[in-house]
Amino acid sequence: MMRKVNSYQRFMNTRALANCRYQPTCYEHAANFYTHALLIVPAFVGMTLLHVLSDNSWERITAWVYGVGLCGLFVVSTVFHIITWKKSHMRSVEQCFHMCDRVVIYVFIAASYTPWLNLRELGPLAAHMRWFVWLMAAAGTIYVFIYHERYKLVELAFYLTMGFFPASVVTSMSNTDGLHELAYGGLIYCLGVFFFKSDGVIPFAHAIWHVFVALAAAVHYYAIWKYLYKTPSAESLLHSL
Ligand SMILES: [Zn+2]
Repeated sequence: MMRKVNSYQRFMNTRALANCRYQPTCYEHAANFYTHALLIVPAFVGMTLLHVLSDNSWERITAWVYGVGLCGLFVVSTVFHIITWKKSHMRSVEQCFHMCDRVVIYVFIAASYTPWLNLRELGPLAAHMRWFVWLMAAAGTIYVFIYHERYKLVELAFYLTMGFFPASVVTSMSNTDGLHELAYGGLIYCLGVFFFKSDGVIPFAHAIWHVFVALAAAVHYYAIWKYLYKTPSAESLLHSL
């Protein structure tokens, strides 16, 4: 009996076994690579723009921390995907970059919160989130190096905790401009997680996840640019008087 072959089957391989990595098809490899490679230059331009708009050294440092997280995400992801696409013979290099690809997500989450935590006035307790978010990123990094790919659901729980917990500081913010955009971005990341977990179920699932990441990062960037950098700070207004 002839086996029914779905028309999209050549675009997708079978689902990975538990604790193994999914092997994308060559089409998926290409999509995974291009969806993040094309964002490297815009990320650098975005970082430079925030640097230019900075009114003081604190804003400038914050722009760089956020910018390095943003550019780092797309650069590391692109390098990892090109290494797996071109089937590097050095498995250890591929493994190393896969870990970096996971670590950079923790760094990116911390970096994305940094402008809000650094440039908005926070309550005395909430202000501790400025360093705590980086402590969580460090804990996530250590976790990746010890248990990489061993407990995928724990890893997902870590990402979600780190993604949402720092948002609790909004309760102490007197200025809440831009928080809608912050929430929309978070929602887009959450919708993307569905595709992040759908390798081998939906063709191009990982590339679709990349697109969700790019959209959410763009919404967050827009909010940071508009509400934290575009408007001159009270301090610089005083200087211009
Ligand atoms: Zn990826």
